Amino acid sequence: MMDYSMIGQIQKAKQYAEEPERVTFHTLTIEFTGSNNTYIITLDATGWHCTCPGFQKYGICPHIMALERLFGIMLKRDHLPYANGQNVVSDVEKASRYAREVDRIHLVSFEIIFQGGHSDYHLTYQQGQWECDSFYFQKRGICSHVMTMERLLKGMVEPVMMLVAPEKAATTEKIGGGGSSQHTGNEQTQIRPEVASVEGI
Ligand SMILES: [Zn+2]
Ligand SMILES: [Zn+2]
Repeated sequence: MMDYSMIGQIQKAKQYAEEPERVTFHTLTIEFTGSNNTYIITLDATGWHCTCPGFQKYGICPHIMALERLFGIMLKRDHLPYANGQNVVSDVEKASRYAREVDRIHLVSFEIIFQGGHSDYHLTYQQGQWECDSFYFQKRGICSHVMTMERLLKGMVEPVMMLVAPEKAATTEKIGGGGSSQHTGNEQTQIRPEVASVEGI
């Protein structure tokens, strides 16, 4: 079922996931379930924004501070400065707790540049839909870059849906024989690369 090129992509993704500095987030939209409410956090060319009252008042909040901890080097930007009047002790405590409770964080969309072995790739995620401009993704609907992001953002994103390998579909059709050309062209299998272990290969 799994061909060697796919195994290669999975192995690359395992290695890339140890090198998060390859990733740079350019835009980001997140639904964040706080203690009492759900807030929308965005990152774009103008910087961070959050819909919570704390951010409106101080320009910084524990939600963004939690994301700064979680995304770290993938943001390639300095942490927001603390503000006058902000309850820093309480906000730092909340941020470190939130950063451990990733089920509070739901990624709605993002846009990243992924530094691959030989060139940079543009990868987007929108409401569960992944896209990468790499050749492998264009051909197979998944690639080492997407697999890497699934590993790095585990629990915060939907896993990629992969079409059944065309080789396999063709073989099945042949075996089925009988000239009947009806087959389920839209058959999809959900794969979780972190489960599809390549250990021992
Ligand atoms: Zn906030
Ligand atoms: Zn890719």
